[in-house]
Amino acid sequence: MFKWWWRYACEEDALWRRTIASIHDLNDDIDMWQNRTICNGGLWGSISTIHKWDNNFEEVIKTGCWLKLSRGDRIRFWTDKWIGNDALKELFPRLYKVSVQQSAKVMDMGLWNGLQWCWIFNWRRPLFQWEKGQVEELKMKLEEASLAIEGNDIPHWRFEERGNYSTKSFTTAVLARETETLTSKNVWRGVAPPRVELLIWLVLAGKINTRSRLKKMKLIHQDNANCPFCNRVEESIEHLFLHCDFSWKLWCHSLLDWKIETVMPGSVETWFDMWMNNIKTGVEAKLWWSVFYANVWAIWFHRNKKVFENKEVDWTDVAYLIKMLRAEFV
Ligand SMILES: [Zn+2]
Repeated sequence: MFKWWWRYACEEDALWRRTIASIHDLNDDIDMWQNRTICNGGLWGSISTIHKWDNNFEEVIKTGCWLKLSRGDRIRFWTDKWIGNDALKELFPRLYKVSVQQSAKVMDMGLWNGLQWCWIFNWRRPLFQWEKGQVEELKMKLEEASLAIEGNDIPHWRFEERGNYSTKSFTTAVLARETETLTSKNVWRGVAPPRVELLIWLVLAGKINTRSRLKKMKLIHQDNANCPFCNRVEESIEHLFLHCDFSWKLWCHSLLDWKIETVMPGSVETWFDMWMNNIKTGVEAKLWWSVFYANVWAIWFHRNKKVFENKEVDWTDVAYLIKMLRAEFV
């Protein structure tokens, strides 16, 4: 699917691209670089939202896609990453704030004076002295840029030497990223049966099929995407395993045994890191780690019971299962 997306970006003049653009009422300006959805629904909708399917996809697309500067007709001066690794608005937030050219393309930020390119900046108000210093810094940074008089900015795919997108290089990059993030997590600690450790691995990799994920893949309807425990919030990984009242109560209950109080973390990944970095040694460490594995396993087990067998789940049942599992694991 991403291949189509890529073609859309590269082949500006292709007939099929013009056709899609006219059907969906798009102008020539592609929003993919801003990670905005071009339009909702339909085949084209799923093409343009592919990067939301999977965290690793999104990261690889973000780092892999690059617009190569030519005459600056497509790159946005402040908001795109085109010179160095950061967008200029991140490097010079103050200047960005007072710029009246916030969404301008590079080519609209100056003009050719003979063979020399001159930058022209417009500000909402006269600049303070220290801001003028920043403008000088910005100008120095811009000396790295080499604008061309002619030629369009073209998408460049970082993971292929010649810059052309290929499915193979995309897959390789995604796999490399998965291996990298998950090896550093050290999920395989031998404190739970392999199937349980595999579940943790899937959860941390964002690959567990929650309703939210199935919805993004357009396999289930939006109305069915709510959490089976509370039925109030979409069932994302973070909600199901952490933020749902049901699950958080279980975590707090487990922590009571250890006399630990904590605040709710933002993501399961952070939670895993916090948990594993809580230094304990020997048998105690194994016990402590296994609590994490038992909780995630028990939540998923009862979630499936609710979803596939429509069985009501009482949280004390889950708490009991967690206790049993812990005894079994260690
Ligand atoms: Zn819930």
